[in-house]
Amino acid sequence: MAGAEFGFELRVCAWAERYWEPADADSHALVARQLGTQRRRWDTIVVEADPDALRARAAFGADELDPDLLDVVRHAPASWTFYRDALPDPGYPWRYVREAIHRASARGVLEERKRGNRIEIRRIAPYPDWVRRIVAIENKPDLDAAAARDLADQLERDVALGLADEVWVATRADATRALVTEMPSAAGVLSFDAPASSEASDEAEAARATRDPSMDADVAWHPRALDPDATGVRVTEHGDPTAFEYVAPAEKRGTRRRIAERAYGRGWRAYADTMRPDCRAFGLRDAGDGYVPHCHAKGREQTAAECSGSCAEFAPEPPGWRQRGWPIEGGPGKAIQRLLDRRRRRRRPGLDGDAD
Ligand code: SF4
Repeated sequence: MAGAEFGFELRVCAWAERYWEPADADSHALVARQLGTQRRRWDTIVVEADPDALRARAAFGADELDPDLLDVVRHAPASWTFYRDALPDPGYPWRYVREAIHRASARGVLEERKRGNRIEIRRIAPYPDWVRRIVAIENKPDLDAAAARDLADQLERDVALGLADEVWVATRADATRALVTEMPSAAGVLSFDAPASSEASDEAEAARATRDPSMDADVAWHPRALDPDATGVRVTEHGDPTAFEYVAPAEKRGTRRRIAERAYGRGWRAYADTMRPDCRAFGLRDAGDGYVPHCHAKGREQTAAECSGSCAEFAPEPPGWRQRGWPIEGGPGKAIQRLLDRRRRRRRPGLDGDAD
């Protein structure tokens, strides 16, 4: 992903977290990036959640439940029951289910006990139905004609499958007109005014964060609501004739639950996990609505791909910073990760420390 696209994407996520207007006014918007299925990954995902059910979801912790854990947790009974009586036949060997039960128990999201040779399970709480809507956004700050055609083709497929409730393209204001005419009419278009960039001041450097104005967005084209409860059509091969398959509503519901769980666990600030916040040059810039990374050595925002141990300008924090627990626990790199993690947890009511 090019630098401009990466920075744009983070700003769209930050904007959505702050300004997204859910279809139901009381819904809580959770934002995540780079999520989807094996076949299709979206840049930004907004999950509109039932606020009470979202709080109930927090009983299962801050981390995502992977598909195997989710299957076990969703069907776990209120009272002790032999696991094979409680869970639906998985369609694969039960030993994999037992492994998932052990993992769920170790994570504290399920109770497990042995009665003779039998494993019994009990839920810690009902797993709530917390997802109301899922919105997929493709971020394209700059588009040439060929890229616009590819994107239009991809969005046609998204609309035909109907996995999300809405699909959007986010772009810069100067590219909006061309996009509106090229894109399928069912896809919405968000038009962003890019902010002027600012460089770090010495004072802000001390705090390792500088400030940038947020982006303003307008709706240039409203999307058509899709129907995730209807049978979808998945194009498997373009050609003449085009090959496709039907996707049953039950499969779509399962996929949506898995995407929502990933969104809950990862959010959009997980970029630091694959970058080098432990590099002396790594900083954060306040993009108005949320922090984005900034490299002081390069004097600009770096991409996740270039910010690695193989970067020519990588300068690790001195070991002394970490050993002495500077400033509180670990060096500035750890402090940056804690800051981002706290921000993520704030958007997930009910988690311990969400008032931080
Ligand atoms: S110098 Fe390289 S590794 Fe260090 S913050 Fe900048 S891009 Fe990342």
